[in-house]
Amino acid sequence: MQRGQMNDSIINIRAHHLLCLQGFQGYGYSQDFVRNMAEIIKKIESNPELQIITGCDDICSYCPHQLEGVCQKDAGSVSGIKDVDRRVLQHLDLKEGIKGRARDFISLAKARLRSISDIKDICGDCDWKEECLWFVSRSQ
Ligand code: SF4
Ligand code: SF4
Repeated sequence: MQRGQMNDSIINIRAHHLLCLQGFQGYGYSQDFVRNMAEIIKKIESNPELQIITGCDDICSYCPHQLEGVCQKDAGSVSGIKDVDRRVLQHLDLKEGIKGRARDFISLAKARLRSISDIKDICGDCDWKEECLWFVSRSQ
């Protein structure tokens, strides 16, 4: 995905980013990344339609690790991050590509992923755990 492709009517969100959005405190991979993330969170407050995917999304599109529409953060990122997205879909009983209102997906994630044991196979290898309100709130 190239920069600037965010569609006003529907926002593409890869499944694990449903969690990251809720833990965001202003940290990220670059200034552009942080600005875009804050913009998406602002849009989500108005309950737009989301499409839940397992590839690069409207958050990845401003990430320096996204190259030619693929996450290339680490050696195993291409399949590894997709696996994390698939695990989130399993926990939430959702199919890839599903569309719906932001609040419904966020409520579902909150209801299904309540404790550290619920998210250990999702957030376990993330570099941002210490800065992430979602992770910290489930670690207490
Ligand atoms: S710990 Fe990492 S993967 Fe988990 S919600 Fe936070 S930022 Fe996302
Ligand atoms: S590290 Fe990968 S999955 Fe995370 S935002 Fe960047 S491109 Fe997307």
